[in-house]
Amino acid sequence: MNSVPPAPVAFLDLKAQQARISTELRRRLEAVLGHCQFVLGPEVAELEAALAAFCGATHCVTVSSGTDALQIAMMAEGIGRGDAVFLPAFTYTSTAEVPLLLGATPVFVDVDPRTFQIDVAHLAARVAEVRAAGVLRPRAVIGVDLFGQPADWPAIAEIAARDELFTLDDCAQSFGARLHGSCLGTVADATATSFFPSKPLGAYGDGGALFTESADRAALFRSLRTHGEGTTRYEVLRIGMNGRMDTLQAAILLAKLSVFEDELATRSRIAAIYDRRLGNAVTIPARVPDSESAWAIYAILLPDEASRDRMQAGLRASGVPTAIYYPRPLHQQPAYRDAHDGTALPVSEDLSRRILALPIHPDLTDEDVERVCDAVLAVG
Ligand SMILES: *Cc1c(COP(=O)(O)O)cnc(C)c1O
Repeated sequence: MNSVPPAPVAFLDLKAQQARISTELRRRLEAVLGHCQFVLGPEVAELEAALAAFCGATHCVTVSSGTDALQIAMMAEGIGRGDAVFLPAFTYTSTAEVPLLLGATPVFVDVDPRTFQIDVAHLAARVAEVRAAGVLRPRAVIGVDLFGQPADWPAIAEIAARDELFTLDDCAQSFGARLHGSCLGTVADATATSFFPSKPLGAYGDGGALFTESADRAALFRSLRTHGEGTTRYEVLRIGMNGRMDTLQAAILLAKLSVFEDELATRSRIAAIYDRRLGNAVTIPARVPDSESAWAIYAILLPDEASRDRMQAGLRASGVPTAIYYPRPLHQQPAYRDAHDGTALPVSEDLSRRILALPIHPDLTDEDVERVCDAVLAVG
């Protein structure tokens, strides 16, 4: 009578992906094991050229992680004490961690309640407020492309131009996304991305990359990722980091890049099925106009915290894993709240109580997707 319940749906399935690219992956890894240039081997330059070509950027510099990419970009700009760095409160911890590490002050900005991206009207107001207070120097804005969708870069660029702010794109979740037809990587003064294993393009460990149109910036990024070196390895021009991507990760990413375009298409197809089947039952993610998402995360909204928690428990009972990005906005984190000026950020706080991410990855089967939808509709 009782049938065995099916195995849970995978929130992320790196084993299935590995099986799909196994031949190319093994060929790439064998090549590195053959030449043994484990740091800055030939695959690193090959990957940088391939990533730049993929997104249409002029320069790509790979680094040790997405967080280090953000740090190197801000170090290259000389950002530090007395500088105000504007960033959304509803994002991953790194976006605020890096300015604080460099001695700068994060100025938290609220997000749009529909797209979850930085609220550009609030950004403009926050810049004006800091300027009027006259204590901190408005210096940079980190626009985060949240969940795979692009932030409103034309509006951010306009505010930045007016106030002479450095624009840094935290594209950790959204490499491969497009805005007005162009791939992210070229919409800000510098773009930082991450290849953490769970990102749309993930390595088998930590990794990241920087993109820029400026040859001077690219040269600084290269110097900073290798201890601030000059033209020879033993000339130290500036304080830098050990921030390189290792060759094995570059080799893995080259294998993954060969299927990345197809994977983006699959993610987008799954998002369309979720939209169609769930749109009448829950709030589905609003699209940024004239854009294509990399669909790192598909997040629905429930009416309140109790129904979100009920949905999460109901899905878990049906073998559907979910995640909450983010249960706490950054201005309320114990480590960051002392740096916050106390401004209310009601949208970020509200989203953290009502949001829920459903599984979305290229190895979900059609049956998995239907099962997720059935489970959401059953909880209601
Ligand atoms: C993942 C992520 C980062 C950090 O990337 P790591 O490679 O894990 O250091 C930074 N910002 C955002 C928005 C992220 O999602």
